Amino acid sequence: MSNMMNFSAGPGALPIEVLLEASRAVEALPETGVSVLGMSHRSAWFRDVLDEAENNLRKLLDMPDNYHVIFMQGGSSLQFSMLPMNFLRGTDRHAEYIVSGYWSAKALIGGQVEGETKVVWDGKDTGYTRLPGLNDLHLSHDAAYLHYVSNETVEGLEFTWVPGLKDVPLACDMSSNLLASPVGIDKYAFIYAHAQKNLGPSGVTVCILQNEFVNRANRTLHSMLDYHAHIQARSVFNTPPVFSIYVLMLVTRWLRDKIGGLAAMGTINRKKADLIYGALDTDAGFYRVCSRRPFRSTINIVFNLPDPALEKLFLDESQREGFHGLEGHRSMGGLRVSLYNAVSLDAVKALSTWLVEFLRQHG
Ligand SMILES: *Cc1c(COP(=O)(O)O)cnc(C)c1O
Repeated sequence: MSNMMNFSAGPGALPIEVLLEASRAVEALPETGVSVLGMSHRSAWFRDVLDEAENNLRKLLDMPDNYHVIFMQGGSSLQFSMLPMNFLRGTDRHAEYIVSGYWSAKALIGGQVEGETKVVWDGKDTGYTRLPGLNDLHLSHDAAYLHYVSNETVEGLEFTWVPGLKDVPLACDMSSNLLASPVGIDKYAFIYAHAQKNLGPSGVTVCILQNEFVNRANRTLHSMLDYHAHIQARSVFNTPPVFSIYVLMLVTRWLRDKIGGLAAMGTINRKKADLIYGALDTDAGFYRVCSRRPFRSTINIVFNLPDPALEKLFLDESQREGFHGLEGHRSMGGLRVSLYNAVSLDAVKALSTWLVEFLRQHG
C-alpha cells in the first residue's frame, strides 16, 4: 500500500511534502528545537502559525476584509448546532435548509433542536441523485438564514451554482470542497469546513464569518459555543489543536507555493474527475454512477457494480493493487473514489487504468 494511492473519503490524503515536514516537526521544530507536540499555544511561534494559516486562507480565497476567520474544534458536526444556537435560538424567525443528502440532513436536525425550520427542497423523492435548480427552491425573505452543503460527500453531488436570496444570510458546509477550487466568498455570511477532507488532519474546523452576520449572534451562550468569544480570543480561547492547525498551515503553504492557488487547483481537480468518470462511463451498465450527470461531484465519485459480490471483489483486488479507501460510506455501501487536493494526477491515472482493467476482466 502506498501513501500516494490514498482515495479515502476522510480523513483524506495529505501532500507528501507536508507529511514529511510534519513528521520532522513531531521530533523537533527547526525554529524552536522543541517538538510541535510540546509547543505552548500561547507561544509566539504558534501565534505566527495561526496568523500565517489565516493569511494564507484569506489570500487563497481572495477573502474580502469584512470576514473573520477562526479555528474551532468539534468538527463540522458542532457547527450543525452552533449555527442555530447563535442565529436561530431566541429569534422570531425560522431557518431554511436545503436537504440534498446525508450531511445536509444532519445539519437540519441541529436547526430543529433550536427553533423553527423549513426544508426548502428535499432530494429524498429522487433518491438523493440530483440537486435543485433555483426554481425548485421555496425561499422566503424573512428567514434567519439559508443552510446548504456545497458538496455532498456521501452521495457525490456538487453544487455548481450558489443558491439563496440576497437579503437572507447564506450558511454553507464546505467540509469536502473548500480550497478545491475558487469560491465567491462575498455571497456567504458563514462558511465552515473541518480540515480532515481537504485542509489537513482532523481536530480543527475553519469558520469564516461575515462581520455583519456575527454581530447579530445570540450573546447568552456559554463562551465555548459563542462565535464572539472565539473571534475575540483569536482562536485561543482555550487550548486549540496546535498540531492540526500547524499541519493545516503547511497545507495552505503547499497550495500557495507548489500548486499556485485555487484556480490552478481547480483545473487539476477537474482533470482528475474527468479521468475517473471517463473510465466509469465506458460501460455504464457495469459501473453505475449514483448521481445524475449535471450534479456529479468532482471530489467524491460514488458508484456501484452490478452486484455486491462484485463490489467486494473489486475492493479486495484494488487493495492488492495498492489502492486505499475505495469503499462507500457506511450508510450507502457501494464504492467511492475521493479526489481531494493531495491526490495526485498520477495516482488518478493509475486508478483509471485499473478501472478499465477490472472491467476487462469482469465486465
Ligand atoms: C465528513 C462531513 C461532515 C462530518 O464532519 P465531522 O467533522 O466528522 O463532524 C460534515 N459535513 C460534510 C459535508 C462532510 O463531508
